[in-house]
Amino acid sequence: MPMPLRPPPIGDAKVLARYPFLPQAAEHTRGLLVENGISMDDLLSAAWLSDIRRKGDMRVKESVLHDDGIEQRSGDLSTELGRMSESLSFLYAMMVACATFDERVTARWAEGEATRADKLLGGDGVIFETIANTYLSDIQSEVMGGDTVYSIPLTDFIELCPRISGDYWRLPNRPLKDGWVEMGPSSGENSQQRLARLIKERIREDLRKRCNIRMEKIDEGFAERLSEPVGAILTILQSRATLDFDAGNATKSDWPPCMQSAIAELAMGENVNHSGRLFLAAISAALGIEQEQCASFFQGAPDFNPETTRYQIGHVYDREYTPAGCSRLKMEGRCPVSPGDDPICDRPKMKHPLSYVWWKQRNRSREEEQVDESKEETTETANP
Ligand code: SF4
Repeated sequence: MPMPLRPPPIGDAKVLARYPFLPQAAEHTRGLLVENGISMDDLLSAAWLSDIRRKGDMRVKESVLHDDGIEQRSGDLSTELGRMSESLSFLYAMMVACATFDERVTARWAEGEATRADKLLGGDGVIFETIANTYLSDIQSEVMGGDTVYSIPLTDFIELCPRISGDYWRLPNRPLKDGWVEMGPSSGENSQQRLARLIKERIREDLRKRCNIRMEKIDEGFAERLSEPVGAILTILQSRATLDFDAGNATKSDWPPCMQSAIAELAMGENVNHSGRLFLAAISAALGIEQEQCASFFQGAPDFNPETTRYQIGHVYDREYTPAGCSRLKMEGRCPVSPGDDPICDRPKMKHPLSYVWWKQRNRSREEEQVDESKEETTETANP
């Protein structure tokens, strides 16, 4: 059973700010932009909105960094500014996540927002049922032993429970009556908290769908203007070895052409410009390359000085500089490829050299899987 097409109306501005991911909040956020005369351009660059952008950046960064969701507390929702900050930082965060064009980022951001929602909803005594009715086809409640116990339609439970691990979420373990599944308390959580956990699945799914739609609509120029926060997010993502991409395992053949050409030019004694050098040090740091190895890339430079190089590289590593994105490298003459040279660089949504490494690794692991499969097939044929 999909989400209800017509969610119950919510008019309370505080609720819409606390839960900015709600479908009902989209119209409210649009209204905030219009009422305050804020254009998309303003949201991306106006000085007076810098705190909102910072908060939005944190929403994405925390979701990439923490497995247990976004930690941020809501600001003061009794003030208009506090409410605006919540709603617009959510919108800005979604735009940054989508402008990475990287499904690992949008998936982790959706997970982070959904986990935050799960925690908030589990303890919300005011609007919980309305929000439950936003994401589920129906709910029922009954007071049992002094506590409210919720039940939901079998169709919703069957669709959502397979994604959650634990005996509680297996249908044979849940009381079932006339097509309603009882969500009783368990594992130290009351019925509302259990139901909030289930609703989290729908929130995540809805956010991911919205991200996919938004990614289709984002144009080059718009993504361009977000290249700085996007680069910062991708740098954090690459440095997380626990994700499906292990930067530490990136081999030389995974390095993007812009990185390889900077290394090759330096080795040949060419005078790579400042942005090329800064990029090389920053991407080496993001890929987990040892500082000593990074310093060795510069050995052939005409002005090479070991001490100065080590000092400058240390500075880049300590400050965790974000490597420049493709558009900046192109502008600064540091992108060596032309259309048709490299299929990964040709991808319409290739915006950052760190994404190149991920695509390269992904292609490699797919090729390895195919080789393994064909080996297995050969063995089976040889030993029928
Ligand atoms: S398109 Fe991007 S990743 Fe590819 S070489 Fe140019 S700058 Fe590097």
